[in-house]
Amino acid sequence: MTEGACLCGAVRFSATGFYGGVFKCHCSKCRKAFGGASSAAALCREKDFRWLQGESLIHRYRTESGFTRFFCKECGSILPQHLPQHQSYWVPAGLLEGDPDLTLRKHIHVDSKAAWEVLDPDTPTLPEGFA
Ligand SMILES: [Zn+2]
Ligand SMILES: [Zn+2]
Repeated sequence: MTEGACLCGAVRFSATGFYGGVFKCHCSKCRKAFGGASSAAALCREKDFRWLQGESLIHRYRTESGFTRFFCKECGSILPQHLPQHQSYWVPAGLLEGDPDLTLRKHIHVDSKAAWEVLDPDTPTLPEGFA
């Protein structure tokens, strides 16, 4: 089992497994939300995910277009997000503790990546999101 937490540690969760590896999304919204070159996240099935503490500190931000991100009210760390249509949780990989035994699977939305970012040549890319 893997556990994860935000920067201040107030929000904690556990995941018993991930599927599909880590994908980095380079869309403009993920770059803003993460304050970096991309987001980096893995998917966990609903039944494998559990909040351990701090759920009352989870704050939601939603853009007019519907892009939604959850974050810790205390420290601002981005947090896992329930994707009911996929019976999964989207879990930011940087929150995970220890070695979750994940590998980088794909770069997505690379058509909108920052000009200053250099991608590793061995990882598959998609010009936009998952089809
Ligand atoms: Zn926090
Ligand atoms: Zn994105």
